[in-house]
Amino acid sequence: MKETFDIATHSPEQTFELGRRIGAFLRGGETLSLIGDLGAGKTLFTQGLAKGLGAAGEVVSPTFLIHRIYQGRLRLHHFDFYRLAGESDLESIGFYDFQAEDPPAVIAIEWGDRFPRALDEPILQIEFHTGASETDRRIAVRAKGVPMDEWRTLVDKAGAP
Ligand code: ADP
Ligand code: MG
Repeated sequence: MKETFDIATHSPEQTFELGRRIGAFLRGGETLSLIGDLGAGKTLFTQGLAKGLGAAGEVVSPTFLIHRIYQGRLRLHHFDFYRLAGESDLESIGFYDFQAEDPPAVIAIEWGDRFPRALDEPILQIEFHTGASETDRRIAVRAKGVPMDEWRTLVDKAGAP
């Protein structure tokens, strides 16, 4: 079975919309590892995700540059690992506690590939690639730790924007 599949978006709105649609189907407990260069669309996608989870606004977190919290149908923890000096910082920002939260939250991590061992499965790895045009993105989705069927259904339902 195919483990990875690609989605093309052609505008910022389409990437936001992809996030929104995926957010609408998450159940809690999923970790989304967002990979791609600066400006690739990781933050925009996460804003769509928050919208899809029905988040009304942001909950203040103690380390807002590294960690933002959105409360919707499910809680969303949005981390940015770019600013962390090392893996030992994860403990001091409470990452492991948030990842183990009950009821299970959704965890979205920009630069999630920096400390791959720290991430609990199921993981939806989402890689953002810039294209020839300034507004084209190729977004590669890969599931780890859950039957691909399940993610496939989820992302198929999300559909191409
Ligand atoms: P990152 O968090 O990966 O650094 P951002 O989401 O902050 O990236 O920024 C993405 C930038 O690229 C925004 O300025 C957005 O308007 C622009 N952009 C242009 N086309 C797209 C697209 N198809 N998808 C996502 N962002 C796009
Ligand atoms: Mg960003």
